Amino acid sequence: MTSLPDTTSDDPLAVGSARHTARWQLELSQAVRSSSELLNRLKLSPQDLPELLPTADATDFPVLVPVSFLNRMQTGNPRDPLLLQVLPQLSESFTIPGFVADAVADLHARRSPGLLHKYHGRVLLMAAGACAVHCRYCFRRQYPYSEEPRRLEDWEPAMAEIESSPEIHEVILSGGDPLVLNDHRLAQLCQRISRIPHITRLRIHTRLPIVLPSRITTELCSLLTSLPLQVLVVVHANHAAEIRNDCLAALQQLIQAGLPVLNQAVLLRNINDTADAQEQLSLSLVNAGVIPYYLHQLDRVAGTQHFEVPQSVGQQIISDLQARLPGYAVPRYVQEIPGATGKTPVLHERT
Ligand SMILES: *Cc1c(COP(=O)(O)O)cnc(C)c1O
Ligand code: SF4
Repeated sequence: MTSLPDTTSDDPLAVGSARHTARWQLELSQAVRSSSELLNRLKLSPQDLPELLPTADATDFPVLVPVSFLNRMQTGNPRDPLLLQVLPQLSESFTIPGFVADAVADLHARRSPGLLHKYHGRVLLMAAGACAVHCRYCFRRQYPYSEEPRRLEDWEPAMAEIESSPEIHEVILSGGDPLVLNDHRLAQLCQRISRIPHITRLRIHTRLPIVLPSRITTELCSLLTSLPLQVLVVVHANHAAEIRNDCLAALQQLIQAGLPVLNQAVLLRNINDTADAQEQLSLSLVNAGVIPYYLHQLDRVAGTQHFEVPQSVGQQIISDLQARLPGYAVPRYVQEIPGATGKTPVLHERT
């Protein structure tokens, strides 16, 4: 018998007894976990990708790609924009000045276990240490998740800190990906947060509706809509080809449940660094009912330099979008500056 994830654990990759394994947990356990399998499934050979990092499967950030996301990639295309987000490349191992482990100064903002206070009026809870996909450009790939709380009791210092900070009105569940928590864990955490009187909004930052759409279920939607809080969902898609099939259905399920859904993307070289690619992404999102919220300049995290796009290119893309699209379809082009209490716009070049 194959091993299935233990639903009593908040680690979806943990293997244990198989009571009530949800379909998304089964799919996560079946995700692709090596470059060679990824390439096999796409009928590509390593010769098609000379930059492929040979030691990839030995790193501490191994390949992880759910089959649903893989199914939206184009077979035989070594330049597929979804593949390039998840495939390790040789340049990950280069050391480049200016690209550092904690580029966004997360560790400086840590207030208590699992709690980051970086932004005015909002706090981030590192609700889960795991993700359902490993994005090679990830700004938190080096974050020490294993030190963060797991059980509800372990969250109490963070809850006490929020309780004693009446200026905080919004809790953002981040990670990792908070939706890798099972419904029981997630409900416990959300209900605990909703008992803090000055918290009025709960935001969930998640890539699961995009990479593992089966996570979005009727049960999850009722869990979120039954909270005495305004809940918002911020998803993360970078390319129009992600917003298809089961992903499109999952986004519509969230929206039909009454949850506002916003998207944040990262500007990524050879993936979405043209006005056409961004226009297609914005149109796919708004046609699905999702508002394009942010386009992030890449955070300069070690090993991600091959994804960087110059700011002048990003600025030109945004002005092209402004000429082509309604205002609500143009994301805010922003960067994270350590120590700033909100996002900093990458300002438009004046001519
Ligand atoms: C910017 C950012 C936030 C806060 O976003 P706002 O919408 O500006 O409040 C939360 N989490 C992550 C990971 C971010 O990058
Ligand atoms: S889903 Fe988000 S946190 Fe997880 S690897 Fe991708 S970018 Fe990083």
